[in-house]
Amino acid sequence: MKVISTIPQLRDLRSTLTGRVGVVPTMGALHEGHLALVRQAKQACDSVIVTIFINPTQFAANEDLTGYPRDLDHDLRLLQALDVDCVFTPAPDIMYPSGYQTYIEVETVTQGLEGSQRPGHFRGVATVVNKLFNLTQADAAFFGQKDAQQVAVIRRMVHDLNMPIEIVVVPTTREADGLAMSSRNVYLTPEQRAAAPTLYRALKAASEAYEQGERSPAKLLKIVESEVTHALLMTPQYISVANAQTLKEVTETTDQPLLISLAVRIGSTRLLDNIVVPAKDNTSEHLTHLLGNVSTEAQSSPA
Ligand code: AMP
Repeated sequence: MKVISTIPQLRDLRSTLTGRVGVVPTMGALHEGHLALVRQAKQACDSVIVTIFINPTQFAANEDLTGYPRDLDHDLRLLQALDVDCVFTPAPDIMYPSGYQTYIEVETVTQGLEGSQRPGHFRGVATVVNKLFNLTQADAAFFGQKDAQQVAVIRRMVHDLNMPIEIVVVPTTREADGLAMSSRNVYLTPEQRAAAPTLYRALKAASEAYEQGERSPAKLLKIVESEVTHALLMTPQYISVANAQTLKEVTETTDQPLLISLAVRIGSTRLLDNIVVPAKDNTSEHLTHLLGNVSTEAQSSPA
């Protein structure tokens, strides 16, 4: 496994790779969720590049950039065990040298959900992902369902800018009690950690109601809301029922797949989670046709 941190090194290495190349962009502090992406990339590609870069442009001034968990040695051990070909771990001034002034703005799909809570976040995400795609010249990139809107933003960018790369979505990996794995879970106190599975419990309650025939977006929303607003230590930031393909908020009853998502604050930590209904659609195969898949957008009926 080659561990490299400069752009000339990455270009040199890339020129030696043949066949299908996969990239897995991460911010490090790796957990089983990240490793699920890497495993899927290993299966689908001849070579896999994992990037570890805590991207400063996607953090607002009041967010946790300086405190974001870092453990490169541990990350490298995990990636070595999965037989990754290359880890690219640049310093911030390699990605954003002095005088840097070019950013990617994806418009409508960045506006709701996370975008409404984190102004500028997706501008930073789209910019760094664009740079990583240019640098790695990968044929496929692997992203987690956990950040569903991120998938939709990247897909929109790839489509709009004619980028020759396939976007693969991997279902969310969870702890045994249902909590979606996240590098930020280490911030939780034991008391907060005990409360955190409420997010998934609330989503499951809505999903079960859906499976039993409930199709009213307002009722599905209420189910999530009632679980979360009564939970200890939690302040909801948004709860949403959206068309799982376009990510537009849904108010009318529909048989289209839905993305039910939420973000809450527990103390100073933000947690997010989502689920797609019908439940069977939470597989890589189905997610590939959902979450902002631009090629099927024209065929879906309006939400
Ligand atoms: P991050 O390091 O948080 O930027 O995440 C890097 C990638 O891993 C993103 O595509 C995330 O959506 C994905 N990811 C993070 N947590 C999970 C999880 N629990 N299950 C699946 N993918 C995840």
